[in-house]
Amino acid sequence: VQRIVIVGAGLAGLRTAEELRRAGYEGDLVLLGGEPHLPYDRPPLSKEVMRGEKSDTTLKPREFFDEKNIQLRLGVEAASVDTGSRILRLADGTELGYDELVIATGLVPRRIPGLPDLAGVHVLRSIDESLALRADLAEAKRALIVGAGFIGCELAASMRAGGLDVVVVEPQPTPLASVLGEKIGGLVARLHTDEGVDLRAGVGLTSLVGTDRVTGAVLGDGSEVDVDVVAIGVGSVPVTAWLDGSGVERDNGVVCDGVGRTAVPHVWAVGDVAAWQLKVGGRKRVEHWSNAGEQAKILAGALTGTGDENAAAQVPYFWSDQYDIKIQALGTVAATDEVHVIKDDGRKFLAYYERDGILAGVVGAGMAGGVMKMRGKIAAGTPIGEVLEAASA
Ligand code: FAD
Repeated sequence: VQRIVIVGAGLAGLRTAEELRRAGYEGDLVLLGGEPHLPYDRPPLSKEVMRGEKSDTTLKPREFFDEKNIQLRLGVEAASVDTGSRILRLADGTELGYDELVIATGLVPRRIPGLPDLAGVHVLRSIDESLALRADLAEAKRALIVGAGFIGCELAASMRAGGLDVVVVEPQPTPLASVLGEKIGGLVARLHTDEGVDLRAGVGLTSLVGTDRVTGAVLGDGSEVDVDVVAIGVGSVPVTAWLDGSGVERDNGVVCDGVGRTAVPHVWAVGDVAAWQLKVGGRKRVEHWSNAGEQAKILAGALTGTGDENAAAQVPYFWSDQYDIKIQALGTVAATDEVHVIKDDGRKFLAYYERDGILAGVVGAGMAGGVMKMRGKIAAGTPIGEVLEAASA
């Protein structure tokens, strides 16, 4: 291989470049990023950055890329790709040939169609969006958060820490219902209402009020709220429009095998944009931080022929910080699982997720030890009866 081009200079793109060098690849390595910034970390954008504790989350200094001989091309997007002649066309009109292409273009926030374009209405994915929302909050007294997913919940916590009145609307019966199920969603709801969040579950946003700047919102139950700022967190969509006409199959993300290979020769995908064939649970996109690094390692091993394609799958992991509580999930957790609450002290909790009679995953809030010690049991596919018995002993 003479030249590998990675499109997308986020976490997954950066980790893939690092892992390729670690795996011994010595050829040309180009990391192409649409944003003007060095690769940066996103989890702090809704937490430390929003609370004003950080303004820069850069992952590696520029010297790192020089040292590893990784060519950074920032501030220019890939516009299209010809996978036959293996040429990328960039938004600035130039072309870039590749021998192997890695797609790492991540996600962009989903928009709610039909909303007026008003100042004071934000989405959150990038550092620029995070700093813009933070700046707007400085003058605000009351914020509306649309959507109680992870980003909405984390924003609610950060805004409460800043002393704002916070209203959250969520059409589902509880926060995080589609990820963790309603039982655990109910415990997350309690956490937020105890912290003074005005949580309107089962209610969606109907429209926004304001001329140039947002001043209020009309909700699905007909009520109106006055607000100074609105943050919309209703999920994200994979960035794949630039692959139109490339022959690369997409189905809610770039369709890949279990090591990141697409069906088009010399094209791979990694991170939030990629729908990998998982060892358990079928083909799925995983939108979490640890996954980007794990996939990068597997992909680099497969691309360079140095990895073991049949290596045991990792036990998936993600976390979310809300107030002083770290919510952690280990294993695969699904809203359709049977959920057993093992501990609940009114704020912190621990729950086991059962699927087909087996311990599929565990979710804890402020219970790091209780979560992490289950890694072996989840990996081994332990019968749920066994772990429930141990928990009650
Ligand atoms: P991204 O980080 O989205 O990077 C993709 C990059 O590709 C972007 O920089 C984009 O500009 C660029 N790009 C897109 N199109 C093109 C193009 N055509 N040409 C060139 N470049 C392009 N996960 C957790 O596990 N725990 C958390 O607490 C947590 N908190 C989060 C908080 C926030 C606010 C956000 C947004 C995410 C959070 N995550 C968290 C998720 C985690 O950050 C992601 O899983 C991770 O960033 C995925 O990395 P990625 O490289 O796949 O995608």
